[in-house]
Amino acid sequence: MASIGTRLAALLGSVRRPGDFFAAGTEMLGAPSIEVEGVGPVALPLLPVQIKPLLRVATPAPYGRGTETLVDSAVRRCWQIGPERVRLGGRSWERTLASIVARAAEGLGVADPVTAAFYKLLLYDQGGFFVGHRDTEKAAGMFATLIVALPSIFAGGDLLIRHKGREARLDLQAEAGEVAFAAFYADCLHEVLPVAEGCRLVLVYNLLRVGKKNPPEPPDYAKEQDQVATLFEEWRKDEDRPVKLVFPLEHAYTPAEFGFAALKGADRAVAGVLAAAAQRSMTDLYLAALTVEESGAAEYVERSGWRRGEEDEFEAGELFDRSVTLSDWRRSDGGTTVLGEIPVKEDELSPPDALEDLDPDEEHFQEATGNEGASYERTYRRAALVLWPEGRLFAVLVQAGLAVTLPFLEAEIAALEASPGEDWTALRQRAQKLATEIVAAWPNMVQGWNDPDHPTETARMLGLLTRLEDAAGIARLLERGLADRGFVPGDAEAIVASLEPLSPPQRPRLIERIVRGMADEHLETAGRLLAMAAKVGMTGLNDAAKHLLAALPGDPARAPARHSWGPEPRVRPSFVVDLLAGLAAIDQEIAAAAVEHLLAWPKTYDMDLVLVPALRALTEGDIRREGPASAPLIAACRAHLARRIAEPLQPPADGRRESTVGCRCTHCIALARFLADPFEKSWTLRAAESVRRHVAETIRRAEADVDTVTDRRGRPYSLVCMKNQASYERRVRQRAQDLADLARLDG
Ligand SMILES: [Zn+2]
Repeated sequence: MASIGTRLAALLGSVRRPGDFFAAGTEMLGAPSIEVEGVGPVALPLLPVQIKPLLRVATPAPYGRGTETLVDSAVRRCWQIGPERVRLGGRSWERTLASIVARAAEGLGVADPVTAAFYKLLLYDQGGFFVGHRDTEKAAGMFATLIVALPSIFAGGDLLIRHKGREARLDLQAEAGEVAFAAFYADCLHEVLPVAEGCRLVLVYNLLRVGKKNPPEPPDYAKEQDQVATLFEEWRKDEDRPVKLVFPLEHAYTPAEFGFAALKGADRAVAGVLAAAAQRSMTDLYLAALTVEESGAAEYVERSGWRRGEEDEFEAGELFDRSVTLSDWRRSDGGTTVLGEIPVKEDELSPPDALEDLDPDEEHFQEATGNEGASYERTYRRAALVLWPEGRLFAVLVQAGLAVTLPFLEAEIAALEASPGEDWTALRQRAQKLATEIVAAWPNMVQGWNDPDHPTETARMLGLLTRLEDAAGIARLLERGLADRGFVPGDAEAIVASLEPLSPPQRPRLIERIVRGMADEHLETAGRLLAMAAKVGMTGLNDAAKHLLAALPGDPARAPARHSWGPEPRVRPSFVVDLLAGLAAIDQEIAAAAVEHLLAWPKTYDMDLVLVPALRALTEGDIRREGPASAPLIAACRAHLARRIAEPLQPPADGRRESTVGCRCTHCIALARFLADPFEKSWTLRAAESVRRHVAETIRRAEADVDTVTDRRGRPYSLVCMKNQASYERRVRQRAQDLADLARLDG
């Protein structure tokens, strides 16, 4: 069976195409000829001099009331000339009229053959008007009135047509050489406003349907409403469904006029059918701005036959990326909504090809730069009606992702917390339902290069679930994070806090599971989690602590197989801080074993890069460094610092500098000779750019005591090297740091 979007579009197709309660336009008027008995030929545009002769042969136009025909200048002020006195001539007029009748029939949505019977000529001179009225049926088969305004000069005299709460206002003014026309269903209330000046000259026709007993009526979509409502009922029950339906509209709307009340023509008719059907089938209806953004490769098109110097031209080539989103939501009752930017999926469009062959609202080409090829960006903007079965709001929100759902849930929970009243249960159910949907759709977290100490959205969601006291949701999200290895150290605090709803024995068991699951590849997260759990006083963490100890990197014999091909994971000082703080609080023996491990593998746990900075952080924190476990670590660091402090520290006595460099090429040997020379203060290397760059790189790698500058006089340029005291200054800074660190350790 066709998709629901296809079926909805098919049902609404008959609402879209046939017209409205009125139709209007202008038509070219080719060589008209109009002759009025007693006046003669009438010139067009109407000349003022001919108005009086016309009025002389005209009679006051009456109006019908019930079965009576009355003349009352308070109701109608206008002059008529009957068809028997008017002759309309010329083959071109016949063609013009046929075209007008065809357009009027189409505009009114009448597919059957229609004929126009000339009824009378009307003159509304200055002050002429006709109050609101409905036309009486003047001939069998008549269903509508056609007004053709002949070229004449007048102001005012607008025609108002009303039908079921809608109103059209037409001035029936035409350019030179044209006639303006309006047609409307006979049962539409209509009115002619007073003519301010000049004279309005119109031909009135009855529109008749040929050979049919029942005249057509203004569009009535009761049948479509029934069918759409039935379709929506079916949609509600369908599990294998699009979550929502998106029906793009035909007309463009400015932001100022955007709303249900301002919909035009067929869009309004469609919205009317959908609103009626939605109300009957418990379906939510919204109006939203639909934005399509496309980007892709642009292709250069060489113009032929154009003068040189013309701008290059591009055309859109392969499409790389396309996004379709909804925003600026309007409710059908005119209210607003907090719905944000929500994506549209392909199967939600009605009809499925609704967005094909659109003309872009914006198109930009970007010329090729560097290694990027030429590209284009296109934007399409439409209005769309959006529907989903009541109660599916959350599923729609979840489509938009965490950027929309988490703030929404946060607002719901805040409302819940602020409302101890009788609606608390309903609010909680709502928030609970949304939370369940969010967890069910939890994305695969991709660990990027973000700050690992910053909490992820998992932590944020755990915080919300904790506020909701949703133990099941917390358990599901933790399982999910565990399966994806989706936690970072920054999440540890939220994880530990989320265990509150669990029973005391369950908590350390879950910590152990996560530590065990994370320790191999996400050691830092496991360490932070254990430290956090110990910090809040959780007990029963010994097994978790043992797992962490067993997972410590450093010993090649103990390294897991998956690490054997790659470098050892880099250990940050913050991990050692977490490790020692956590283990010391859990079990001194395990902590002592960990310290022994750290000291056994100095390549992984470098004194200056890892251990001393870690101790620095620990002594600033609340760890008791006198603890038996950390004593050997403190002793080792102290010995390391003392050894370096004992080294002599003097500025260079002469020009001699450390001259060991990593390269033995002739230029680098010359550099080394310069560095070892007690007298030379500077050395100039005049050489090609590649040689200068190589020597500068050797200096940088060797951390040689040399400043370099390029002398751009003459060719080739020169690299000028001047000796400095950089390594001595580094040692001075190191000495100050070592003394401070030692003082801190000596406490
Ligand atoms: Zn070299």
